[in-house]
Amino acid sequence: MNNYIKFFGTAGGRFSVFNQIRASGGIWLSLSGTNVLVDPGPGSLIKLIESGRSARDIDAVYLSHRHLDHSADINSVVESMTSGGRKHHGAVFAPDDAWDDDPVILKYNRSNYDNIRTCAGSSWSVGNIKISTPLKLMHPVENFAVRFDGNSCSVGYISDTLYFEPLKKVFSNIDILIINTVFVHSRENIYHLSVHDVIPIISAVKPKKAVITHFSTEVLRENPDKIASELSKSGIEVIAAYDGMQIKLDEI
Ligand SMILES: [Zn+2]
Repeated sequence: MNNYIKFFGTAGGRFSVFNQIRASGGIWLSLSGTNVLVDPGPGSLIKLIESGRSARDIDAVYLSHRHLDHSADINSVVESMTSGGRKHHGAVFAPDDAWDDDPVILKYNRSNYDNIRTCAGSSWSVGNIKISTPLKLMHPVENFAVRFDGNSCSVGYISDTLYFEPLKKVFSNIDILIINTVFVHSRENIYHLSVHDVIPIISAVKPKKAVITHFSTEVLRENPDKIASELSKSGIEVIAAYDGMQIKLDEI
């Protein structure tokens, strides 16, 4: 089975995303023949099509949270996934506040796919994989840590959050751990992870490989590859994502 992750974007933080210093198309996950598009931010549909893929091949769109750098293209992607609303196809996973007040997911097309409301401690089967959301993250809007389990490999994703101790126990037996590492230094009252938060998480979770992504201009200035090689001194291999990067999971 061809299991892989492809990054359609690696930008994080307002300046980096809304000036497109890095792209922000989200993450394509292909696991055991099931395809999930995670966090379709601005430009996601274009990146998907430019990569030679079709949105009709998506089995699920997983939206971690409603902020625009993660959700801006969700309606375009879902419209394309459902053949312009003509065909019931696929599922969309998102927290309540992405569906309810001031919804980022438009209502008119919702009958054309499975509407899944994420919550802490739940899991669902989609195609050949299991999607689980074990922990509510600390972010100004609803957001959950998520893991995707295929037949032979697993991927964990910690989206935007303040660092807090339960992150160290959020996953066990995970092959790849993707961590949104927005800043170099933690900032007060900004609910994002920084480089310094990565070590305690990976040292406790012990993934086979960790990937940092969602970079602000601060991280980009400091050179993400250099940061990743510093972090790898922890004993866990850390790589810095770049736009278009593909990781073959069968080789890990
Ligand atoms: Zn956010």
